[in-house]
Amino acid sequence: MRIVALAGGIGGARFLRGLKAAVAPGDEITVIGNTGDDIHLYGLKVCPDLDTVMYTLGGGIHEEQGWGRTDETWSIKAEMKEYGIGPEWFGLGDRDFATHLVRSQMLTAGYTLSQVTEALCVRWKPGVRLLPMSDDRVETHVRITDEAGTRAIHFQEYWVRLHAAVDAEAIVPVGADTAKPAPGVLDAIAAADVILFPPSNPVVSIGTILAVPGIRAAVASAAAPVVGLSPIIGGAPVRGMADKVLTAVGVETTAEAVARHYGSDLIDGWLVDSADAAAVEAVEAAGITCRAIPLLMTDVEATAAMARAALELAEQVRR
Ligand code: GDP
Ligand code: CA
Repeated sequence: MRIVALAGGIGGARFLRGLKAAVAPGDEITVIGNTGDDIHLYGLKVCPDLDTVMYTLGGGIHEEQGWGRTDETWSIKAEMKEYGIGPEWFGLGDRDFATHLVRSQMLTAGYTLSQVTEALCVRWKPGVRLLPMSDDRVETHVRITDEAGTRAIHFQEYWVRLHAAVDAEAIVPVGADTAKPAPGVLDAIAAADVILFPPSNPVVSIGTILAVPGIRAAVASAAAPVVGLSPIIGGAPVRGMADKVLTAVGVETTAEAVARHYGSDLIDGWLVDSADAAAVEAVEAAGITCRAIPLLMTDVEATAAMARAALELAEQVRR
């Protein structure tokens, strides 16, 4: 079976680890990763979501944190600070730096981001085919208003420096409108037997991937059933600040509203947490087959059970 999953960072990566544990030998997983979080720091290209997927599936992730490398040290950052070079708010450890050095060196030499990602995965062996959504530069910006006035800031500055404490007024994936899907992305979607939306951020992870021209249409017209899992449980994100970016795009922070936001044009099935069982009827009224199951990714086994439920639901909604 060919499974395609769209994925952001932590939520996507943890789900994929469960999915890998749930599939049969011989099943192929292709991951289309969000690159809208990418940022250039110290002259290096940093791809936080691709790296979180790569490190999580390759056994190099800092487990508790959910991002960055295990057993990390911070000498480079401290040295940069001595030179007065920031940003101080973005955590790049020494081990992580090596990844960004390799990536930037290869990009400078003329390789595409897809080629670089493939090369990095030779080391990490994530057990999935990891494709960036696009080889073109896309960077999500957030419009905010504070004492300095109204302006757009990089998504990382909004999320990591400001902790999304200021209201987001608009979310703009800068560059997405002219970006092309990376080689293999549209083919993978067209050839898929099942398409999954992990419990990734619907706006700044899955939404950004879908904003690359051609990807949304490919998913909507794919022969494969499309099943999503809610990142929202009991009216709040399980982790992070998804409520801020959902509000910015006019979507309530509920499992039902996120399903409606994707819509029956895009998804055929939707899993909500048992705590949101009351939402099942309303989601089904929107033309999306819905089930309530435990959706907390407490460990790999619990996550694998979520993945199995998603694959079962895909069979039920297969047209
Ligand atoms: P990011 O790029 O690191 O923000 O990661 P993603 O976009 O892939 O996923 C973020 C989303 O994962 C957040 O909206 C969380 O609510 C969701 N999430 C995190 N842990 C869990 C969990 O255990 N269960 C569910 N259902 N969602 C989760
Ligand atoms: Ca992200």
